[in-house]
Amino acid sequence: MADFEDEWQESEPLAVAAPPPRTHHARVFRPNTGPSARGSRGRGSGTDFGWRERDSRDNRNTGNRNWRPVEEGNRKVMTIPSTKVGRVIGKGGSKIRDLEYESEAKIQIGDSSGYETELTLVGSESAIAKVEELINSLIEDYKPPQQESSSNSNKASGNSVTTSFYKTNEFGVQVIDWEKLNKQYDEQQKMRYDSLPPIVKDFYKEDPQVAAMSPGDVSRWRKANNDIQVKRTFDDKPGLRPIPNPVITFEQAFQHYPEILDEIYKQGFTQPSPIQSQAWPILLRGEDMIGIAQTGTGKTLAFLLPALIHIEGQTVPRDQREGPTVLILAPTRELALQIDKEVSKYSYRGITSVCLYGGGDRKEQIKVVSKGVDIVIATPGRLNDLIMARHLNIINFSYIVLDEADRMLDMGFEPQIRKSLFDVRPDKQTVMTSATWPNGVRRLAESYMKDPIQVNVGSLDLAAVHTVTQKIQFVEEDDKEAVLLEFIQNMEPTDKIIIFCGKKATATHITTDLACKGIECQSLHGDREQSDREAALADMVDGTVNILVATDVASRGIDIKDLTHVVNFDFPRHIEEYVHRVGRTGRAGKTGIALSFVTRKDWAHAKDLIKILEEANQEVPGELEQMAERFEAMKLRKEKEGGGGRGRGRGGGRGYNRY
Ligand code: AMP
Repeated sequence: MADFEDEWQESEPLAVAAPPPRTHHARVFRPNTGPSARGSRGRGSGTDFGWRERDSRDNRNTGNRNWRPVEEGNRKVMTIPSTKVGRVIGKGGSKIRDLEYESEAKIQIGDSSGYETELTLVGSESAIAKVEELINSLIEDYKPPQQESSSNSNKASGNSVTTSFYKTNEFGVQVIDWEKLNKQYDEQQKMRYDSLPPIVKDFYKEDPQVAAMSPGDVSRWRKANNDIQVKRTFDDKPGLRPIPNPVITFEQAFQHYPEILDEIYKQGFTQPSPIQSQAWPILLRGEDMIGIAQTGTGKTLAFLLPALIHIEGQTVPRDQREGPTVLILAPTRELALQIDKEVSKYSYRGITSVCLYGGGDRKEQIKVVSKGVDIVIATPGRLNDLIMARHLNIINFSYIVLDEADRMLDMGFEPQIRKSLFDVRPDKQTVMTSATWPNGVRRLAESYMKDPIQVNVGSLDLAAVHTVTQKIQFVEEDDKEAVLLEFIQNMEPTDKIIIFCGKKATATHITTDLACKGIECQSLHGDREQSDREAALADMVDGTVNILVATDVASRGIDIKDLTHVVNFDFPRHIEEYVHRVGRTGRAGKTGIALSFVTRKDWAHAKDLIKILEEANQEVPGELEQMAERFEAMKLRKEKEGGGGRGRGRGGGRGYNRY
C-alpha cells in the first residue's frame, strides 16, 4: 500500500487529563465559502497540479511554496483544551501550516496549564478573527442539539446528559448502558440526516422505443453485448422496481439533456458501450449500481454523465452548497488523474472537479476544495487526510463512486475507506466498479449500498485480450535478463513496450541496467516521486522513450496509445493482473503482442493461464499443460497427506473467474 499512497494518521492529542466542559460555538467547517469565494466558478483548463479552477486574484497562489504568514501585527491570546492541541498542529505541523495559510495569521503554541493551552495569534485584525474561527471549528466536536423533552430529569437535576448512560448491573456496579447510548446516537444521526436537503435522484424518462423492448429483445441484446448480466445483487425484495431496459443509442439516454449529448458527439463516439447502455438507465433513475467491469469498457463515462446530471439537478443551487456533491474514489494516483482527465473532457454548466492524491500539492488541493468544486476525485489516503482535517465533510456528498473497489481492498485501503465514509448520508446514491467480486467487495457493497443492481460485463475483460497475441516463454529465473535484452535488441524502431516486474527493486535494477547499456527507458513504480511518475508516462505517451519498466501500479487504467508489446518479466501474482497487463496493448482497434516469461515457480498459475489462452484462441504450449498437471498432482498429493497444504504454491490462491 505504501507503494501508492502517503499514509496519513491523525496526530495524537497531548496526553493530559480531560478539561472541564467548555463551549465552543458550532458551525460546519467550510473555510472560505462566502459568495465571493465561490462566485468565481467556471471551468478552468489547467491540470498541471491535477486540479482545475484556481483563483488568479489570490496573491498567495503564485506557486511560491515558501509563503509564510506575517510575524508582526496585532496579537490575541486564545485558550483551547490541551487535548485538542494535537488537532491544531496536525501531523508534522501540517494542520497549523494550513491554518496559517488560509488565515494569513501566525499561530504560536504557548504555555499549557494542564487542561488548557494558550495560543497566540498574530496578524491583522481580520486574519486573527479568521484563524480564531478556523481553530474553533477545528476543535469543535459535534454536539447534537438537545431534545427538549428527552432530558427533563437531567436538566432538573443539573446533571450532564452523559450521566444518564450509566446503569447498574447485576453486581451493583455502574456500567455504560450501550444500548441506550447507541439508540441515542442513532436518533441524533437521524436528526442530522433529516435536517439535510433531500437528494433528488430520479432523472430518467424512458424513451418509448426502449420501453417497448420485449423481454426477449432485452435478453438478446444483452447476450450480443459482451454477454451482459444484470440482477439485483442482494435480495430482490418486493416493491423494488424492475431492472430498466438498456438504451441502444446516446439519444435514448440523454435526449432531455441536449448539452450532454453535444459533449458526447464532440468525442466522436458512435454508440454506447455495453456497460453504458445498461448503466445509464439505472443510474439516471437514481439506483445504486455495481459494475463488474474494467478500464477500457467505458465505465468512467458510465458513472460520470449521470453524475453531471445529478449535480445540476439538486434543489440547493451549486454555489450555495456546503461542499462538493460527487466523490469518486480511485485506488492509485495514476487512475485518479486519468479519471480527472476524462472528467475534464466533458464541460457541463461549468461543473468543476479536483483531483486529490498523495504526493500532489496538498496545500493547492485544499485551496481548490475550499473555493468550491462539484466533483472530488481522490485516492483513499488523501481523502481520509482531508476529511479528518475537516477540509471536506463527507455528509455533503450525495453521489459516491468507489472505482476499482477490489483493487482498493487489495491495496489495503479498507480502513481509510470506512473511516472516510463513516458519516456518509444513508440516502446517497452509490456506484461501485470492480473487476472481480470477492467477499471484501461484497461486504463493502452491503455496508454502503442500498438494493444495488449489478451489471456484469463479462467475467474478465477478455475482449481486450482477444486482440493480443499472447506468447509464453519458459525461462530459468537467472536467464530472464539475458532473454529480455535479446528481445529489446530485436525491437523495431516503431515498437513501444511495457516491461512488468513484480517488485519495485527489480524495476529499478532493470532500468539502471538498460540505461548503462545505452538503452533509453523510463520507469514507473511506487518508489518514484509523483512528478517523476507523471513524467515517465508523458515520455511514453509522446514517444520520448519507447520502453517503460513498471510494477503493477501501471497494469490497470493506464492508456498508452500505440503500445505494441507487453513483456511480463515476472509473471503476475494474481491471474487478474495478467489480464490487466496484457490489456494495456491491443487497444482501440489495434493489435498487440504479450510475451510472458514463465519459470517453474509460476506453476500455480498454469491452469488459469491455459483457460485465458484457450478462450482467446491462442496457442497453448505443451509445457504449460504439463506444468498445470504437475501442480494439480502436487495439490492432490498434499490433500491426501492432509498436510494442510492447500496447494496454492507461490502466489496462488486467487482464482480466475470467481464471480
Ligand atoms: P474507461 O473504461 O472509462 O477507462 O474508458 C476507456 C476509453 O474509452 C476512454 O478513452 C473513453 O474516452 C473511451 N470511451 C468511453 N465511452 C466510449 C464509447 N461509447 N465509444 C468509444 N469510446 C468510448
